[in-house]
Amino acid sequence: MEGLTNISVVRDIMERHGFTFSKSLGQNFLINPSVCPKIAEMGNAREGFGIIEIGTGVGVLTHELAKRADKVAAVEIDTRLMPVLEETLADHDNIRIINADVLKTDLAAVIMENFSGLECAVCANLPYYITSPVIMYILESRLPIKSVTVMVQKEAAVRLCAEPGTRECGAVSFAVRYYSTPKILFNVSRGSFMPAPNVDSCVIRLDILDKPPVSVKNESFYFRLVRSAFTQRRKTLANSVSATLGIPKDIVISAIEGAGLSPTVRPEAMTLEKMAAVADLLEEQQP
Ligand code: SAM
Repeated sequence: MEGLTNISVVRDIMERHGFTFSKSLGQNFLINPSVCPKIAEMGNAREGFGIIEIGTGVGVLTHELAKRADKVAAVEIDTRLMPVLEETLADHDNIRIINADVLKTDLAAVIMENFSGLECAVCANLPYYITSPVIMYILESRLPIKSVTVMVQKEAAVRLCAEPGTRECGAVSFAVRYYSTPKILFNVSRGSFMPAPNVDSCVIRLDILDKPPVSVKNESFYFRLVRSAFTQRRKTLANSVSATLGIPKDIVISAIEGAGLSPTVRPEAMTLEKMAAVADLLEEQQP
């Protein structure tokens, strides 16, 4: 259905279905007509592609994705939206709606069941209360996808796309760079949504890498180290890691020095390669 960015069309649908916004589910629906076509086009929604969407709302982005891609599988948690989507997406026969929590959905199985012979990508205007968990869930699931194109809060976009070794970076920036090359695509003002949130947004795209840019001996220890490094970001790496992982400080310092770094190095000065070197040395020294 066209017109899903028109406030009176959306209000009419909502009224007829008795639907009211749920703040706790992050329901801020897009009403700026230029945004969804841009997300679809920059997010690989095109011939030969199956797209996973997370959080359909009334289907405004789903509609633009289905116009361009071969197939769309959309995961939406809110059961109240199911009859709404039956009406708004009735023109399309290439959409499968999955009424579920995305964090409890086996996305690899969704791809296998729906996108045989197609390339895949993820596109979404994410519910902001679970931005990082959803992105981490997608990345860690190592799905056979080309890209993840998502609308997130501006501050989250900066952190997610920050280059390790800069002030803005955090544990999530390391994870993003381990699995992908991130890019901020464009800004979206708060007035583009109904209801308007208190923050501005950004659309980012993570282009998934074939293999990580660094090799580590033990991936799960590497990510434990990264998380521990940024738990107390004002402290030195040695203090933060020692306190969080419970490893004696002299052992942490010897790994840091063994990697050719200063014992007082701070987490935000670390790169993926430096963190990998410390992780490999520290893991060797574990009992
Ligand atoms: N795509 C629509 C748009 O752009 O207007 C809606 C975006 S709205 C920011 C987020 C959507 O995610 C809502 O429809 C909400 O119900 C849904 N949602 C929230 N938590 C979810 C979860 N855990 N799993 C799947 N969908 C979820």
